[in-house]
Amino acid sequence: MALNLLSSQRFVFIRILLSACHKNYMNLRINQRFNASTSVSNILPKHINAAVMRINQPITVEQFDMPTNLPDGAIILKTILSEICGTDVHLHAGKLAGVPYPITPGHVAVGYIAAMSRNAAVDINGQPFREGDIVTFLDVNETCGACHYCLVSKQSTRCSKRKVYGITYPNEGPHGRKPIGGWSEYIYLTPGTKLIRLPDGLDPLTYISGGCGLNTALHAVDRADINLGDTVVVLGAGPSQYFEFFDMKKMFFDWEGGIRDQLVELNPNMYNKLKKILLEVWFTYILCIWTLSHSPVGQSCVAFASISGAAAVIVVDGEQTRLDFARRMGASHTILLSTPEVQRIEQVKTITGGNGADVVIEASGAPVAVRSGFELVRDGGRLVVVGQYTDLGDVLINPHVHINKKHVSVLGCWGSDFSHFYRAIAVMSKKHLQIPWKSMIGGSYNLQNINDGLQAIKERTIVKAVVNPNNIQL
Ligand SMILES: [Zn+2]
Ligand SMILES: [Zn+2]
Repeated sequence: MALNLLSSQRFVFIRILLSACHKNYMNLRINQRFNASTSVSNILPKHINAAVMRINQPITVEQFDMPTNLPDGAIILKTILSEICGTDVHLHAGKLAGVPYPITPGHVAVGYIAAMSRNAAVDINGQPFREGDIVTFLDVNETCGACHYCLVSKQSTRCSKRKVYGITYPNEGPHGRKPIGGWSEYIYLTPGTKLIRLPDGLDPLTYISGGCGLNTALHAVDRADINLGDTVVVLGAGPSQYFEFFDMKKMFFDWEGGIRDQLVELNPNMYNKLKKILLEVWFTYILCIWTLSHSPVGQSCVAFASISGAAAVIVVDGEQTRLDFARRMGASHTILLSTPEVQRIEQVKTITGGNGADVVIEASGAPVAVRSGFELVRDGGRLVVVGQYTDLGDVLINPHVHINKKHVSVLGCWGSDFSHFYRAIAVMSKKHLQIPWKSMIGGSYNLQNINDGLQAIKERTIVKAVVNPNNIQL
């Protein structure tokens, strides 16, 4: 579906209009004595339509009561746009642990504040938010601020108490029966949610085109600690699958130490049987499927690596169209995944002066890509693994060859915190005219056809789908 651009001017107009709509309501509230909870304006509708997800069932649209009172710190956000991403595909398939179905998905959204309680929120400069402000919010919420990860190691993305909008908030739970995700006309924002006003010039459609992948990519590039002039490889540039053959015989007999030795020690019979089979049969290729990410995190990694001053950004992906797009995002070199692995390694070495890349960012989601990353990174380089969001199985590496002797730093990357969220928006507001994030959007869906959008992302026919629950003209 073709989309007209939502101009920032139009949203300035909407912002003014909304402020005017709320003016009378605000006047009524002047000098009003607030209690611990605040009544919600009768300007708002009595009911909210929201999408509801259950495992492997069609998404339904259900009605929720508009909250009549807000506890101190809570906000009602009228949704302008949310998104459908790879996480939603995994959620629908029941692949994520600890999800309290049924839920309203949509962990990243942008909207305007339709109602708020007293002292609902201030920004990081202490400026209070007001009704009518166009804001987005950090999807990660309720980190405890009291555990080892929050206080000592300062890695709040591993706080066990953290909740995520659109993922770990049930439709019925401690906050009552409410839609707490972006696939909804209105979103209930719990007390303590961290908001950011969209900067002037950054319109909601552009912002949502980066969406959740923006924060994740910025975190991954932070982890990579890219220096000016570094060479960077990004594995995976968007949603795709690729099929590749591996020679099991070669892999088995090339194993030095590690699993082969353990197998000899633990189960010599099995080792001998396997060896016999591999020696006797001539055809030992197995088909491996690179199940690449549903999400364009890799594309934003390319953009951020390029902005960070990398001398070369080399992208490996299974599809030429995505590689072409990666060039627009800042890639200097591209390599098709169908190129045999030996040649891929040679190409990267040629580009990097024979050493391999200073940094490899694995954003593909295919476990075998992690092994490939070890082959492409230089001795003493950094390998960041950000694509393995769900468990797709094991991969064989040789700890001596790939890690110890190679002196490689391997860095996992999970989730994002407020600093990633804040800086991602800051960078996007400055760079979105040069970097074509918005071109990644392939379709817009409302609550009625949201199953089509989820299917399109699942089948990887489009890179980015936006959700427009209030049918705002795009
Ligand atoms: Zn904590
Ligand atoms: Zn997402």
